[in-house]
Amino acid sequence: MSEVPYFVSYDEALTILRQHTLNIGTETIALDHLYNRILAEDIQSTVDDPRFDNSAMDGFAFQYSDSTQPPAVLSIKQTLQAGTDEQLTTIEPGQAVRIMTGAPIPNGADAILPIERCSISDDGSEVTLHDEGKKHFIRKQGENLKRGQTALTKGTLFSPSSVGLCATMGHASAKVFKKATIGILPTGDELQLPGEELSDNSIYESNSFGLTSLVRMTGHNPIRYTSVSDSMDALRQQLDAAAAECDFILTSGGVSMGEWDLVRRIMEEEGDIKFWRVKIRPGSPPLFGYWKGTPLFGLPGNPASSHVVFRMLVAPFLRASTSEGGVEEKRIRVQLAERFKTSPTDLILRRIVIDTSGENMLAYSTGYQGSGNLNSLVLADGLTLLEPGHSGEKGTWCDALIL
Ligand code: AMP
Ligand code: MG
Repeated sequence: MSEVPYFVSYDEALTILRQHTLNIGTETIALDHLYNRILAEDIQSTVDDPRFDNSAMDGFAFQYSDSTQPPAVLSIKQTLQAGTDEQLTTIEPGQAVRIMTGAPIPNGADAILPIERCSISDDGSEVTLHDEGKKHFIRKQGENLKRGQTALTKGTLFSPSSVGLCATMGHASAKVFKKATIGILPTGDELQLPGEELSDNSIYESNSFGLTSLVRMTGHNPIRYTSVSDSMDALRQQLDAAAAECDFILTSGGVSMGEWDLVRRIMEEEGDIKFWRVKIRPGSPPLFGYWKGTPLFGLPGNPASSHVVFRMLVAPFLRASTSEGGVEEKRIRVQLAERFKTSPTDLILRRIVIDTSGENMLAYSTGYQGSGNLNSLVLADGLTLLEPGHSGEKGTWCDALIL
């Protein structure tokens, strides 16, 4: 183990991970299926958005100078709805056009008054404006996006709004990364499947289910294996099977210092470890390396730890594989509403509830922070990023990750 980076800082771990990204192919996918897929190239708009000056309101369009001394009476020249095929007339002084939201602005008009501030004569020929026209109710061509402008960048995980924007820009499909196949391999003699009757001293296996969900959340494809017993032969066999089937393997359990921590041992003896142990709490035991050419993350067995390590290390590793260094998770600044235990050496990742009702975002602990307590994560809005040496005093500030 001597030359393997051991007990590295969080930043050192990220630096090592960036040198070992996955090589993931691409495919072209129709809009309908883009949600939660990862964009593989920057994409540009094929149109100006809006395509033409148009009305933001149902109302009347006219020359602003006609409306500066309300009430003002104007003759109604035309009615225009969105998508109209009528020839646009030119608005002269004293004239108005009845206009619907999204309809093009006729030449000469430079202001809109919403219908609520207008009244129409009984014969429908005239409108009385009860207020000054509003120039800002004209949506200007290209004010959202210019044709040719890049609005979505490589590495974007498609959200509902970015799928919509892709359509706005005129693309029927987009080039995305293929989903990486990620094997999830829980280890431990004590583990049984939920729903089974537990034998003495057994517990329900939960990590593989949480990790499967996390893999899906990041836009990839999980394969969940049933748990492997703590034996070198069983582990070797299952790792070989997973390596043959997957682009990347996540194990859980068996990476600490104990005699039965066989993932660590087999990786030491037969694998290729790039780092082991990281200065974060919870979740200090993880290891990263290769099992016969396939990248492997050995996650801790404690359920809260395995989840936190996924968010802090595995997700950035996956993102680094599908973007040019950028695309990090959003962080917010929170103020500690109580004292938090910190460390001179480790990054402290407390599960917090964030109270947003006041001026500052206040961070409260979700309660007992044991690394086996998954409920501390279920209750949490976020995860503190309390840097080594942070005082943790009530009233101080730190970054937090939104969960
Ligand atoms: P280990 O890292 O293997 O020593 O496991 C640490 C703790 O996490 C032990 O209490 C294990 O029983 C528990 N644990 C390990 N793997 C799982 C799992 N897949 N689901 C739930 N608990 C687990
Ligand atoms: Mg174990």
